[in-house]
Amino acid sequence: MFATKLRCLKCRAEYPLITRYNCLKCKGILDVEYDYEAMKREEVGSQFTMGKNEGIWKFKDFLPVEKQENIVTLKEGDTPLFYCKRLSASMDLANVYIKDETRNPTGSFKDRPISVAISKAKEEGETTVITSSSGNAGVAVASYAAKAGMKAIIVVPSTTPRNKFLSIVCSGAILVKVKGTTSDCFNVVRELSQKYGWVNLTSTFLNPFATEGDKTVAYEIYQQLGLVPDWILVPIGAGPLLVGIYKGYKELKKMGLVEKLPAMVGVQSKGCAPIVRAFERGESKVKAWGTPPHTIASGIADPLQGYSNDGTLTLHIIKESGGIAVAVDDESLIKSVQELSRFAGIFAEPTGVASVASLKKLREKGILKETDTVICVVTGSGFKDTHTIEKYVEIPPIELEPTLKEVENFLEQKLT
Ligand SMILES: *Cc1c(COP(=O)(O)O)cnc(C)c1O
Ligand SMILES: [Zn+2]
Repeated sequence: MFATKLRCLKCRAEYPLITRYNCLKCKGILDVEYDYEAMKREEVGSQFTMGKNEGIWKFKDFLPVEKQENIVTLKEGDTPLFYCKRLSASMDLANVYIKDETRNPTGSFKDRPISVAISKAKEEGETTVITSSSGNAGVAVASYAAKAGMKAIIVVPSTTPRNKFLSIVCSGAILVKVKGTTSDCFNVVRELSQKYGWVNLTSTFLNPFATEGDKTVAYEIYQQLGLVPDWILVPIGAGPLLVGIYKGYKELKKMGLVEKLPAMVGVQSKGCAPIVRAFERGESKVKAWGTPPHTIASGIADPLQGYSNDGTLTLHIIKESGGIAVAVDDESLIKSVQELSRFAGIFAEPTGVASVASLKKLREKGILKETDTVICVVTGSGFKDTHTIEKYVEIPPIELEPTLKEVENFLEQKLT
């Protein structure tokens, strides 16, 4: 293990490598540090694909878990990177790729951060975990806790897509539905974790080990694409996935494996866009979103109330990378669900296609050049959010008799 310590990103204070949520001195966000010099000396980078582990744990040397036996995995990661010719053409672009995170074991990228953070909790001998979530992280925690034999408490807004509840309940976790936003869940869970000592796996920047899982997306793209893309587009709530991916690229650069870094684009929904608002106003700090989120993108509807500093870190990283923050509306999300399905064969939830939904806009504004290499991270599966999609996409109500004549007649109309 090359991870050495936790460091506060704000005041630079150091802490040992054990689960802790914020800097004691300044409440800043904690980040995992590694001995990159040693990694370079031992040529860890060239061993990327070696070892017996699969998925994200191929990169165990780059993750903060010591013992092999503590790894809790459902074989997350190793998701496909697709070159999408037809989707590219429809967007007047030449090189659009999809990093298909719907292919993770519980249907979203959240399996990456949760696998790392829960493995760390296991390493520390913990038996009960708790999380606040907009849905997908709750499903991931419930599933991974089941695998590990840990008790799990999942606190989510009652407006969370129903299929996500089903999966949580089936796994035996305690489901707590509250009348409120993701931020309300966040704040209750933070207090419960403090009071009872349960490990908080909330995958904002709170648990520093979670973001480490996110960075494996960058390692995989590095292996799959063979070059650094010009742009990586990511749906963001608080933004740890985006920040994690950028950290992954910075590490690759530190180890001399890549020369440049990608520009990061953070995509939010217009109905809840605190980071985009700050970006557009040229502000250096993100403020919490004052009104209740109003969007079908439930997975990124995070008002950041009580932890707006998380958004500020993401804003800072977007700017540092030379990227931008952009908001899309619900209509374009539903349209993108269908376009991604139609042009690339991938069925994703509205939140998950926010990256795809921003393509047209960024192309029209001339921000994306025709030949730029663009990766859209598609973050979550459509199968867990069918109730939302059904409100907009009609399933044909017509039912036919099973006769050649009737089916032929029907097809005749359809095919002309
Ligand atoms: C959680 C989630 C996001 C937002 O990711 P963050 O890194 O927490 O900002 C995006 N898409 C989906 C499908 C999610 O579940
Ligand atoms: Zn600090």
